[in-house]
Amino acid sequence: MSQSVASLDADVLILGAGAAGGAAAFHLAAAGHRVLVLERDGNERIKPCGGGMAASVQQWFPFPLAPAVEEVIRRVDFSWCLSDPVVAELPGSAPFWIVRRERLDQLLLEEAMAKGCRIERGFGVDDVQRDGEHWCVRSTDGRTVRGRAVVIANGSNSPWPARFGLGPSSLHLASTTSVRLQGRGSLQPGAARFEFGLVHHGFAWAFPIADGVNVGVGTFIGRQADSSDTILQQLLPDLGFPSDAGLRQTASLRVWNGHERLDGDGILAVGDSASLCDPFLAEGLRPALMSGCEAATHLNRWLRGECSDLRGYSIGMRQRWGDSMAWGRRIAQVFYRFPKVGYQLGVKRPTAPQRIAQILSGEMGYGDIAQRVIRRLLLQRR
Ligand SMILES: Cc1cc2nc3c(=O)[nH]c(=O)nc-3n(C[C@H](O)[C@H](O)[C@H](O)COP(=O)(O)OP(=O)(O)OC[C@H]3O[C@@H](n4cnc5c(N)ncnc54)[C@H](O)[C@@H]3O)c2cc1C
Repeated sequence: MSQSVASLDADVLILGAGAAGGAAAFHLAAAGHRVLVLERDGNERIKPCGGGMAASVQQWFPFPLAPAVEEVIRRVDFSWCLSDPVVAELPGSAPFWIVRRERLDQLLLEEAMAKGCRIERGFGVDDVQRDGEHWCVRSTDGRTVRGRAVVIANGSNSPWPARFGLGPSSLHLASTTSVRLQGRGSLQPGAARFEFGLVHHGFAWAFPIADGVNVGVGTFIGRQADSSDTILQQLLPDLGFPSDAGLRQTASLRVWNGHERLDGDGILAVGDSASLCDPFLAEGLRPALMSGCEAATHLNRWLRGECSDLRGYSIGMRQRWGDSMAWGRRIAQVFYRFPKVGYQLGVKRPTAPQRIAQILSGEMGYGDIAQRVIRRLLLQRR
């Protein structure tokens, strides 16, 4: 038997209080809907995330994200096997931010709660079921809540997109190891570092935060060999840290793997659960925030009866993100198979620093890069 709308626990149940869930929660609550966020963890966990994101995401929020921003990046240093350096100066007009992830997630949630959103922590979602016209979500300890709609936002390990036929049927996983270090080592203020060459089929990064550095290793093709400790042993001294410094966390990251439907009947997948992360540079925060905002726009219309389904969400994400990721995937497949050639011809090109800055700032998509390369090849053949 389905229940009346008033007797439901919320209009929208959001599974997970990460960047994607928080963005959706804020915009839905701000539009006047009853929102309940269900989060498994307490708010003290250190999230394995570099925290790098284009400052342009600010345009999607009416409140400042600055309280979560710990560094503004003006310069990116690249290296190949710790040598052959390339420096990209980022123009001040298109900055790249480093946020402390826990703080960003908390900030989004606080802003959502100020608009009336509720959160239940310690609610590990164990089951999601259609119940007549509504949705019923059960926790691992047997609590149940009901809502008109569900936003799946519980990250890369979520089983729910597959259960409801959302997102790619075949998952592409990047393997990551991350370390949060105390102190800045040799990293210059306002500088981030990317290292290619040491990592087979991937790269390593070092992003500064207020009192430390987030260092990580990511592999984008195949599984990470057990070499991340060996890589960190070489990389950390180069960054001015002892080779065994920091606590290591490993995580699998779902990356974009094809245009697929992300909406069902009163249900949507956002962020990592929807496999939106960039398959070339592992940029997942911007698509998480973008998809949370886009999901809220379409859910708002649907809840108000202005549209009969949530199809517009999948279409919107394809146009705003998926089309660029299709090119990003092709570029990743070539670059990570032939990384030395990629570094010489891509990163070391005279125009590369400007293009890299444009990609990191979100000004340019992979489709634009691919078109430029194709045009250059055609001109060379004439
Ligand atoms: C090592 C590493 C470094 C990265 N660095 C960057 C970077 O520098 N820049 C960038 O743009 N992207 C980066 N990414 C990617 C980025 O972190 C993700 O794309 C982003 O976190 C996606 O946000 P999300 O909200 O979809 O998922 P998440 O941030 O994973 O949030 C999911 C939430 O759901 C909760 N949850 C999980 N299971 C349940 C459950 N059963 N019930 C209830 N709640 C649940 C989790 O506790 C979590 O709070 C990195 C990823 C990794 C692994």
